[in-house]
Amino acid sequence: MSTATEVTKSIMHLARAMKTPTIGKVFEQLADTARDEGWSHEEYLAAVLGRQVADREANGTALRISTAKFPTRKTLEDFNPDYQPTLRRDVLAHLSSMSFIPKAENVILLGPPGVGKTHLAIGLGIKACQAGHPVLFDTAAGWVNRLSEAHQRHGGLNAEIKRLRRYRLLIIDELGYLPFDADAANLFFQLIAARYEQGSLLITSNMAFSRWGEIFTDEAVAAAMIDRLIHHAEVLALDGESYRTKTRRELLETTTPTTP
Ligand code: ADP
Ligand code: MG
Repeated sequence: MSTATEVTKSIMHLARAMKTPTIGKVFEQLADTARDEGWSHEEYLAAVLGRQVADREANGTALRISTAKFPTRKTLEDFNPDYQPTLRRDVLAHLSSMSFIPKAENVILLGPPGVGKTHLAIGLGIKACQAGHPVLFDTAAGWVNRLSEAHQRHGGLNAEIKRLRRYRLLIIDELGYLPFDADAANLFFQLIAARYEQGSLLITSNMAFSRWGEIFTDEAVAAAMIDRLIHHAEVLALDGESYRTKTRRELLETTTPTTP
């Protein structure tokens, strides 16, 4: 039988070896609580591991960025606002301060393909991770898949929407590229309604609000959704030429020899 001090020392050593310092810090105090409250071994283990994970989430920008599932890395610093003359820089600066997240406000980026909506969405998402906010990114189609999978499990939709509360910012990219059927529109609406004044959404779309009825195949659903989304929101309309075409054209112009 090893003594209590030996066990304590051994746990401290193992926690260091596993690079889980929080475990080393909390296991004794939680063990006292566990004894007082009659937790099972499993409950105690879950509590200890939970604290470690919570600390990591609170401290780890890198972990948050990988959890966010960004499709690529894009930063706000790499975004050249000169290509977006109508984009107000003060608004962009305000958004990058991340003050919209604690207020559960939304950001809507509208504009044709190639103008930098996804770039800005990822850039703002990374800023949010750096500021300590858990973020989750997916395309509109991806979100609908996730919600309908949850919906197929009994009581799963509510559980999933509840689970998503831990993310202070949900990014929904490419709303409007694919129309939703009535079921998908309904699931999507439930997500929007649940987030209203509770947590931020960042949505990008190639469709102006006036055409959202086409996305959701129902004007009333679209109107109810827009109403909730824009009540507390910054709406940015990006326009101009696609950055992809523009850079390609500029490249062609500078490499095409001028005819004498
Ligand atoms: P959208 O989502 O609006 O279709 P993207 O964000 O995918 O457009 O932008 C297309 C490409 O152009 C990406 O590689 C992006 O990084 C780049 N891009 C777009 N706008 C800018 C900008 N203002 N400054 C720097 N890169 C940009
Ligand atoms: Mg995009």
